[in-house]
Amino acid sequence: MNINLLSETELKHLQTLLHEAQHIVICTHKSPDGDAIGSTLAWKAYLQQIGKEDVKVCIPDAYPDFLQWLPGTNTLLRYDKRTKQVQEAFDNADLVCCLDFNQNSRVEDMCPTLTQCKAKRILIDHHLEPETNNEVTVSRPDISSTSEMVFQIICQLGGYEEMTKECAQCIYCGMMTDTGGFTYNSTRPEIYFIISQLLSKGIDKDNIYNRVYHNYSVNAMRLRGHIIANKMRYVGDLHAAYFAVTKEEMQRFHFIKGDMEGVVNIPQQIKGLKLSISLREDTERPNLVLVSLRSGNGFHCQPMAVQFFNGGGHADASGGKLHCSIEEAEAITLKAIKAFEDELRKK
Ligand code: 5GP
Ligand code: MN
Repeated sequence: MNINLLSETELKHLQTLLHEAQHIVICTHKSPDGDAIGSTLAWKAYLQQIGKEDVKVCIPDAYPDFLQWLPGTNTLLRYDKRTKQVQEAFDNADLVCCLDFNQNSRVEDMCPTLTQCKAKRILIDHHLEPETNNEVTVSRPDISSTSEMVFQIICQLGGYEEMTKECAQCIYCGMMTDTGGFTYNSTRPEIYFIISQLLSKGIDKDNIYNRVYHNYSVNAMRLRGHIIANKMRYVGDLHAAYFAVTKEEMQRFHFIKGDMEGVVNIPQQIKGLKLSISLREDTERPNLVLVSLRSGNGFHCQPMAVQFFNGGGHADASGGKLHCSIEEAEAITLKAIKAFEDELRKK
């Protein structure tokens, strides 16, 4: 199966950049998810495999607890914790690889460090509307994860034979989490060809699933139950559902990072649902509401995320944020649903 992602020209350009680089920074978006951490650690493993000795993965802030087991997480440099070290890494870099994000602003507080960095830059990403002022831009919104793209690029660069089991685990984890365990955006045959290649490296896919998805604390499980039973509002005639979670509620259930991951997908189990929206107060910054949107059954939530929630993302999985109270965020959500009423009402 042909899984080449790059044209001959792009491949040559990338090879030259990698050949010339000695100090490499790999970075990804704020609140990094399985694909962000999986793809950056896999890319780092490849760069080390080809002899690069100075490769640092810099992330804006914490990653969820269910990714802790991924090989290499102990080497991640967090900007919010080690600001000076991250700044130095960018200052010394001659190549910066941006993975799994489309706009500089997605690294949030790390944004000035990234934009002021003089190093050459490559972007490997699968979100809509990428920034393109890079030496090489590999943007493929038709591919469901950056980790899959990284696998394809490593193969095209001739790195498959030497790929380690640890690198394969990172790639599988990213592919799995960005497709909800291969339940959406997961119909392209290439995905399963790649999985077979990863299995040949000795990964245990069932074990990876368990480590990621069967990692809830009892409190986190109860928080999910509380949201679905008591907080979810269902707008039946518009095939939409939304919920708003306060800081107080999260504290009550001893919230830790990652506990809300995927809760927005639960209402999608309702027959015919087109839109699910999650609103939650940020636990650290006041007057900030984090928004997640998911869509299906022919409706696409990305334009709504752009227009109403200062965000964006993928056609059917988007996010954003609102600088207001949770009550005001709920009012905006109702307004957004109303604005897309005609599309949502259709059977
Ligand atoms: P999640 O709901 O899992 O946090 O995010 C879903 C998708 O929405 C992410 O993969 C990302 O593409 C996008 N996204 C989340 N937050 C933002 C944001 O603040 N701005 C933009 N442009 N996209 C976001
Ligand atoms: Mn991704």
